[in-house]
Amino acid sequence: KNSNIGWNFDNSYDKLSPIFFSKIDINPVLSPKLVILNEALVKSLGLNSDGLRTDLGIEILSGNKVLEAGAYIAQAYAGHQFGHFTMLGDGRALLIGEQITPSGQKYDIQLKGSGKTPYSRGGDGRAALGPMIREYIISEAMHSLDIPTTRSLAVIKTGENIIRENKKDGAILVRTASSHIRFGTFQYIAAFGNDEQLKELADYSIKRHFPNIEDNKDKYINFLREVINKHAILVSKWQSVGFIHGVMNTDNMTISGETIDYGPCAFMDTYNPNTVFSSIDTNGRYSYKNQPIMAQWNLCRFGETLLPLLKENRDEAIEIAQNAITEFLEIYYLNWMKIMRSKLGMLNEEAQDKAIIEDLLSMMEKYNEDYTNTFRELTFNNFKNKGMFGSKEFEHWYKVWKDRLDRQEESKESIQNLMKKSNPYVIPRNYRVEEAIEKAESGDYDFMKKLLNVISNPYEYSIDKKDYSNPPEPSKYPYRTFCG
Ligand code: AMP
Ligand code: MG
Ligand code: MG
Repeated sequence: KNSNIGWNFDNSYDKLSPIFFSKIDINPVLSPKLVILNEALVKSLGLNSDGLRTDLGIEILSGNKVLEAGAYIAQAYAGHQFGHFTMLGDGRALLIGEQITPSGQKYDIQLKGSGKTPYSRGGDGRAALGPMIREYIISEAMHSLDIPTTRSLAVIKTGENIIRENKKDGAILVRTASSHIRFGTFQYIAAFGNDEQLKELADYSIKRHFPNIEDNKDKYINFLREVINKHAILVSKWQSVGFIHGVMNTDNMTISGETIDYGPCAFMDTYNPNTVFSSIDTNGRYSYKNQPIMAQWNLCRFGETLLPLLKENRDEAIEIAQNAITEFLEIYYLNWMKIMRSKLGMLNEEAQDKAIIEDLLSMMEKYNEDYTNTFRELTFNNFKNKGMFGSKEFEHWYKVWKDRLDRQEESKESIQNLMKKSNPYVIPRNYRVEEAIEKAESGDYDFMKKLLNVISNPYEYSIDKKDYSNPPEPSKYPYRTFCG
């Protein structure tokens, strides 16, 4: 009967040495109810929506019913949290299986909020509805913005209350990822395992994510380079849309280069490089402007774990790893320039492009302009003469920029088309995300679904989306986010 739903597991992580995971017994929830199911993702995973919506389907997605072919493990990992090394692991998550899609790709199916595990430490193993809806919305927005990310298959209400600052509805997020291997997984094995297990994890990761380098003579340094490259691309994409992750701890960095762990993340409205949303990030460690350098710091921690595989001589190994990691900022910068050029309609490269981009950003900062909408207004040459747009500096900048674009051979139309596909019309505005969560918490899912629909096509310019693209009303208090 499970074949109705389309599960097609080919589990591999549970075949690794026992140190990597713990088997989990079911931890049933009281009365699971479907809040939302991601139809597009259901389809691309080769699953069947009608099957998933049955009682049996929902029992499976909430972990109440165990699939014969499932893995049912919690993964062990460690990590640097705000700079401090700690043992962690899936404290409230359960890998039910590795689904093979009709096109032959593999995705972990993980239940987040599914109950205690040996890694729960003091936690209850559960999750609240609000933060799980938040992860669902933002991860799907990231996917639609073409940013590598874990995705959300479903949110299930458990029918149980959980205790946070007050009583909340419990929920489970069904998350998919090309794997859940983290920098912290390597840190865990480097700290608590042996070299053989380290090699086992590295070989497994290479086979799963970088099969192209499997037969390389220097495959471990190439593995490091591949991960560096993925993160350079990832962070350049975050910066280009104003996404602030908020908890860039090494346990929240994947080997695959997918964004993971949507806790206190948020999109920036007004452009300010010092922006921090997370209530616990009091020193601004993970502020917008620090994201590239923190990614590099994290890659250093990851690189360190690989040293025994790089060269027998530790000093030589350090030098090799260091050289690779030093290149991160350069690769990041090249990717970032490429994206920023296209946001400004630049189809070729000129030496002054960097200055044009940076001058614009400084003006946006000075005049507190909205990050997303400024680029959209430039795309359509549609701005009122106020704020930055009314300033003398802008008048000058605009002329330099237009002259720069006029030197290109391409038509005005193809320049505008490039800008349209590089500058989103909508991002998930924080106040809209909060509105969706509040309504969902009171049992009304319509607004959440409408918002999801709007952000599923962020580059489509449509006046229907106007209400979702406005910046928030000015407020006395800065927007703050909290860990779920
Ligand atoms: P995060 O800050 O989301 O990366 O989480 C850090 C660690 O705390 C991870 O090991 C999580 O599994 C664990 N954790 C977070 N919330 C809970 C909870 N409610 N119960 C048990 N473990 C948790
Ligand atoms: Mg985490
Ligand atoms: Mg988290």
